[in-house]
Order: sequence, then C-alpha cells, then structure tokens
Amino acid sequence: MKLDGESIEVFAKSEMSENPYKVGDREKLYGLYCNTVIETHNKLLVPNALKDINWMNNPDVKLGMIAYLGFPIYLPNNSIFGTICVLDNNENCFPKEIEQLLEQIKEIIELDIEGYLAFESKSIKLETKVLEQIQIIDQAKTPRQKLSNKVKKEHKIQESITNNNQQLIDKLVEGESKDADLFNKLNSAIVMFSPVFGSEGELIDATYLDMNPMNEQLIGYKKEEVIGKSILEIFPETSPKWFRTFGPIFKGKSNVNFEMFHKPLGKHFSVNAFPIDDGSFCVNYFDISKQVILKENSKENQLLLSSIFNRINVAIVLFKPIFNQIHDLIDLEYIDMNPLNEQIMDFKLADVKGKTVLELFPNTNKEFFGYFNTSIQQKRIVPFNFKIDSSKKFYHSNAFMLDDNRMVYTCYDITEQILATKKMEEREKRHKAIFNNSSSSIVLIDSDSGAILDGNDALVRYTGYSKKTLLKMNLKQISTSSEEEIQKQLYLAKQNKKHFDFKHTLASGEIRNIEAYVGQIEMNGKMILHCTVHDITDKKNALQDVLKLSNAVEQSPASIIITDTHGNIEYTNPKNCEITGYSAENLKGKNPRILKSGKLAEHTYKDLWNTILAGGKWEGEFYNRKKNGNYYWEHASISPIKNEEGTTINFMKIGKDISEQKKIQSELRKAKFRAEENDRLKTAFLANLSHEIRTPLNGIMGFTDLILHEETPDDAKKDYQNIVKESGEQLLMIINDLVNISQIEAGELNIKLSHFSATDLLDEILLFYKPEVSKKGLEIQIVKINCQVIKSGINCMLFSDRKRLRQVFDNLIKNAIKFTQKGTITLGIECRDYTVLFTIQDTGIGISKENQKLIFDRFRQVEEHFTRHYGGNGLGLSISKEITELLGGELWVESDLGKGSKFSFTVANNS
Ligand code: ADP
Repeated sequence: MKLDGESIEVFAKSEMSENPYKVGDREKLYGLYCNTVIETHNKLLVPNALKDINWMNNPDVKLGMIAYLGFPIYLPNNSIFGTICVLDNNENCFPKEIEQLLEQIKEIIELDIEGYLAFESKSIKLETKVLEQIQIIDQAKTPRQKLSNKVKKEHKIQESITNNNQQLIDKLVEGESKDADLFNKLNSAIVMFSPVFGSEGELIDATYLDMNPMNEQLIGYKKEEVIGKSILEIFPETSPKWFRTFGPIFKGKSNVNFEMFHKPLGKHFSVNAFPIDDGSFCVNYFDISKQVILKENSKENQLLLSSIFNRINVAIVLFKPIFNQIHDLIDLEYIDMNPLNEQIMDFKLADVKGKTVLELFPNTNKEFFGYFNTSIQQKRIVPFNFKIDSSKKFYHSNAFMLDDNRMVYTCYDITEQILATKKMEEREKRHKAIFNNSSSSIVLIDSDSGAILDGNDALVRYTGYSKKTLLKMNLKQISTSSEEEIQKQLYLAKQNKKHFDFKHTLASGEIRNIEAYVGQIEMNGKMILHCTVHDITDKKNALQDVLKLSNAVEQSPASIIITDTHGNIEYTNPKNCEITGYSAENLKGKNPRILKSGKLAEHTYKDLWNTILAGGKWEGEFYNRKKNGNYYWEHASISPIKNEEGTTINFMKIGKDISEQKKIQSELRKAKFRAEENDRLKTAFLANLSHEIRTPLNGIMGFTDLILHEETPDDAKKDYQNIVKESGEQLLMIINDLVNISQIEAGELNIKLSHFSATDLLDEILLFYKPEVSKKGLEIQIVKINCQVIKSGINCMLFSDRKRLRQVFDNLIKNAIKFTQKGTITLGIECRDYTVLFTIQDTGIGISKENQKLIFDRFRQVEEHFTRHYGGNGLGLSISKEITELLGGELWVESDLGKGSKFSFTVANNS
C-alpha cells in the first residue's frame, strides 16, 4: 500500500481453519504481535519495541521492525477472526491517518468475511442466485464491464478536468499568473505555498500564499484567514511525513503526484504538486472519492465472484454446445470449470479444456445431452439427477444456456439426501409392516375431529368392522362416551395425556372395556393421535373380583395373616393389627412366631406345620402374646394357598380372638362349681340345721315330759325347767340367725344408731360371759388401748347400733368358748380417730390358712359332717361380717392351727 510516498506493509493474520485469506510466511513471522491482538481483542500500538523488554524478545525486532500497530478483525458473530497489522522500522511511525486507514481496511475485510461466510453456509440455496449472477455477468454487459466503463468515463472527465486545469495552471505559471479570473475558474483546489525548511533542508512547514475558492470550500477556511499563516498553524496535527512527501519538488524540481485519503473530509484526493520559479510551490488537488469507491467496488465484486466460483459448494462447468446439422445438440466441449468440478470428475481443467464430453466419456448416454437440448429448446434451466457408479454418489444437476455459444452445467452432491430418503422409505416400509402385523389394535385418529384416519388389521379383527367402514367412522361412533366427553379426551391427548380408559362398541353391538395408549405424530403438518388399543374387559372383571375379595379380607372381622411358604408374613389385615397391637409394617417380613406366648406345647406347632406342609388345613387354638405383653386366645384355621399348578405359594391364617369366650367359659365353670358347692353346703346345712334344731327341741320335749311326770321330785323339776328354757333360747337363737340371714338377703337388716360407751359395752359382755367361761375352766379378760380419750366425759363414746354390735360379740365370743378347751379369752378394744377396733382372741383349736378364707361364707364350717364335735349352723360369722360392714367397718381373722384364733373387727365411730 502506498502512503505519503512511502510503502508500508499491511497484512492480515488468522488462526481460523477456514480462513479465506491465505496465511503467508510473513504473517507467521509477525506472530507475536498478532497473537497479542487476538488474545486481548484490543488495538495494540508498540511505538518502540526496543524500549519494551517484552517486545525486545520478539524475533521481529531482529528483522528491524520496532513499531507496530494492530487491530482485531471480528467475525459477524463478534468472535475474533484474526488481526490486521502494520509494522515499521521507525519509532512512532503511525500517525492518525495510518490508524484510520488501517481501521478502514479492517472494516472492508470484516465485510468480506461476512459475505464469504454467508455464501459458504447458504451455498446450495445460493446456487440459483449465483447461476443467475453468472448469467447476468456473462451476458454482454457485466457489472464489471459496466463498472470499469463507468470508472473509465469518470477518469476521462477527471482527466479532461485535470488537463484543463493543468493548462490553466500552466498559463498561470507561465506569466499569466495572478490572473484572478483564471485562478478562480479552476474546478480543482489550488494552493500556493512558500516552503519552510528545517535544519537539514527538509520541508517542515509551508506558508499559505494564495488559494482559489475551491480550496476555501474544501479546507473550510476563507483565504483571508490563512494567508500569511503556516499549515501547522492552521492544522497543527499535520504529519511531518506529509511534508516529507513534497521533498522531491525541491530536490529535483519535479512534480509530485499521489493519491491520498483525507480523513477529516472523508474524501480521496488526487494530488499534484509542482515548484514555481519564485521558490514557492503549488499544490493542486481534486476529489476522486467516487472513482476510488467505484474502483474498490469493482475489485470487491470481482473478488466476490471469483471467490464464489472457486469456493461454492456447487460444481460449475462452462460448455460450448456442439450441434448437428439439424441443430440438435450432440456433444459438449469443455470451456471452464471450478475446482469442485475438477474434484468430482477427478481431472484438471487444463487436461480437458477444448475436449468434448464424448471424447472423454464415449459411453455418456443420450439422456445427458437431452437435458441440455431441452434447456436450449425451452429456454429454461433443466434440473436432473444422476449417479456416478464408480464413486456411488448421487448428484443434482442443472443445465441451461448462457448465450448462443455457452452452456452452463452445475451439479452438487445429494448422496446424503438420497440415502436419507431411501432410509426413510425403508423405515416407512418397516413401520407400515409393524403397523399392519402388530397383534395390538392400532388406530390413527384426527386429533380435532376424532375421525378415524387409519387402522391396522388387528383393529379390523377386533372391532369386527371392515377397514373401509372404519375409515368412514369417527371415535364418537365407537366410544360409548358423550360427545362432550370425547372432545375433552381429545383435548387431553393433545396436551400429552398418554393413557385413557373407554368403553367401545364392537360391530356386534357388544360393549367392551378398552385401554388406549396415545401418542402424537405429525403428518402433513397436522397432529395425529396414534392409539394402541387393548381390550381389558376380562382384566377389569378379574380386577373387580380381586377388589371384592381384597375388601372382604381387609374388612373381615377375622384376623387374617398371609405368609410365604417359609412362614414370613406378607400380608396382615387391619383386624389382626387391632388384636395384636402390631402395625402391618411391623409384621411384614416377620414370622408369626413373634406372637408366640411360649405357653403352648411345642407339639401344637409341630402338628400345625406337618399338616399345612402336607397341603392340609389345620385348626386349633393359640395362646398368643400381644405387642403390649398381654395374652389372648385365638381360634385359628391355617391352610395353604395354591397356584394353578397346585403348588403351595402362600399360607393363610384366619383367626378369631376367643379370649372373651374363654373367660366366660372359665367363669361359667367357676359358677357351676360354686352352685354345686352351694348345693352341697345347703344339704350339709340342712342336715346340720335339723340336728341343731332337733337337739334343743329334744331337750324341750324330753324335759317337759319329765316335768309333767308326777313322780319327778320338785327340785329336779326346777333344773329341768331351766334346761327347757335354755333349749328354747338355743332354738330362738337359731331362728334369729335364720331371720337375720333372710333379712340380709332381702337387704332389710335394720341399723339403729345411738350414742353409747364402747368400753361399757365390753365390760357388760365380760360380766355376762364370765360365769359360762369359768364353768368351762377358762379365763376371760379385757385389754383396752387408747380408751382414756375422753369426749364429753364419757369413755370411748360410739354412735352406732349397740344391739347389732352385741350380736357380733355374742357370735364371736360363743365361737371362742366353743372352740377353746383351755386357756384364756381376751377381749380387746382400741379407740382410733374414726373407728373403734375390737378383738376376741382365744387359745383354742385355731383355723387352718385354707379354712380362714372359707369360714365367712354362709353355712361354711370347718367340720361338715354329722360326726361333728362342735355345734353351730355356720351362719354366725357370715352374719357378723355383714353387720360390721353395715356399721362401716370390717371383720377378719388371724389364726394358727392348734394355737388359737384372733377375730378382729372395726366399727365406724360416727360420734
Ligand atoms: P358355727 O355355728 O358353726 O360356729 P360360725 O359361722 O360361727 O358357725 O363358724 C363357722 C366355723 O368357723 C365354725 O364351724 C368353726 O369351724 C370355725 N370357727 C369359728 N370360730 C372359731 C374359733 N374361735 N376357733 C376355731 N374355729 C372357729
């Protein structure tokens, strides 16, 4: 590139594999700078590499390059493509103009890449366009020619202007100078300068002497404003290089011509400078922007077309048609072709140029020429496909007439498309076969209307409709659902719902349950529903049966466990959980032995397993333990569950909690025992009672007879009368006891409360029984504890039933006397806060532990046979117990057999 009369090197570098700009050695050499620009994405300016240690190491420095300026070049997607740079061997060598110029070049390259990439990616689509363009270009007036004509024309105009100007200038210089009119008439700008030289005689500035209106217009200053001033005063940024450009004027007094781009004005100028005899110099320049741009465009167009021709993914051949006498095309002669065609045909243009197709390929069929013939006759592009057998590749071709002498043939590889189409056809064939041979019914349905679009053989067989009928039908005619419901289902299917349950009517009128698996497929731009239909009527019925059974098991009042063949629990129903306290999760996988109480004989379980493993049913009772440790009785029936082959797959236990039943049974048994006991006791009581009654009655009868006997002496009569009286009292006592018992039984034993002294009562009892006790040779005494607590001056006052209390004492003391042969009877009293404790202790025969529990029962006596040593009816203690309880206390006994007994009772002190 030429600039200010000097040459500088500009080059672009890229690491891109598809770089359309061939990378040269030079680019490789200046790698370090370029790489830095690529990596940083930034402009890089190195004014002097010698002053920078990093750049000092750069091998370029060794080549004398010390100043560097580089810009990144971007691809259309803003990723980096490479760099454009300029190098110089002078320090600080890149003024603004160069920078701007470089930026401009960078933009052109970016546009070029954009164009190139667009052509690369859309090459096939662009094929026709390109062909059209080739046609246009080649048809007589190509844009290139047009362009160059235009440029030439412009040049001519400019030339004439220049010549004209030159003549005028010459005139000016040759004495007719200072002719203001002439000067002002010039179409180009003209400026007269007085040079300003530096110390070494080089031009460093120039003073404005004169200028014409065109120059005023171009620089934007009036003549008056600049005359007498120097360029640097008006334009301080003018580069020293610019001045250096004019150096030759003063050295050889020669003219200087160059073209320059004036950045501030954005215009290209053609500059012509020449010396004037008076030592001044004249600069004449005019705007050549239009020509430059046209030139650039023309270059770009040319570049683009050759780039397309060489790079396009379409093989292009230019043929010369060869006709026979009747103007039928019989052969084609090679004129030109692009590299892709060379590659496809495996020959070079140079080898075939001037030769014909038939010369090279004598077997070419007539059909091939036929396409060209058609194109000629019908004046249109004729497309056709063909296959090259050797490479097994398919090509799509076009043939058309370019002009009378040239035909264009284009072709590109469509092997992939052809193979893909073939594959697709095969796939379609396969799918069709699958569709028709599938044992599942398949139906294609219009997702909007529900119309049946297709159905396979299985569907025909299943529905009973012929395929012809089916294809005229709609889902509405098959489904039993309402129209509204069908529309809803179609909508859901379009929303990607995959599974549906319907009821379908078959051709026979039978209604069946079906399930459909639905997918969507696109056919001719429309969404079609693809449904695989299964008849699930039998399955559904079976399921319902299973559901019924499982509900029955779930809700069964019996506890049910199902185990595997090893006895591990697989299922347990809620009732079983309720009874055992274990959750279904707790029990799952466990062995039912966790319910074992350990209280059942092992042989029960052995027997169970032997029976069920032999395929039989076992029935029996378990005594099991719940989760909380409580025990329960269960009646269980365990039987094997067998599969269709008769193999045992599970065991099932159906159990019933019989704990309550067991309890009732045991109570019944006890009650029965008690009833039998009572019966036995009653018999004993009656026998006893008759004895007890008969004894005093016999006494009364016998001694009454003796009293009435005349011979009985009077004093004896007196004794007998006493015996009769005692017997009568004894009889009365028995009757009283019986009355009391019946009162207790009827709940009519009356209590009459009164205030009395407990100790007084005891003293009275002692006095009463002393004679009888002494008569039997026994001692009697009273022990009083805590009886000195005086309330209202009266000892141990009680508010109770005195008569009943005396009755209890009488019963207990009489028993003590009756069952004691020697020793002492001790009566005790102890006054407590709210009760009074009485005790009657003897040194008699005592009562065994076992009998101590029984003697308070009615009719119960330790001796229960006729040969009894002691009298009594067995009612005394039970009456006494009832009375003490009625008086708010209780009665109990402590005794040692053979040592004596101590009866104690309390009475509530209500005072
Ligand atoms: P009974 O009229 O037979 O004495 P009770 O109900 O008063 O009837 O007594 C029941 C039985 O309790 C007596 O038959 C006797 O076997 C036993 N028994 C009662 N008191 C004494 C006692 N102090 N010593 C030994 N046995 C007694």
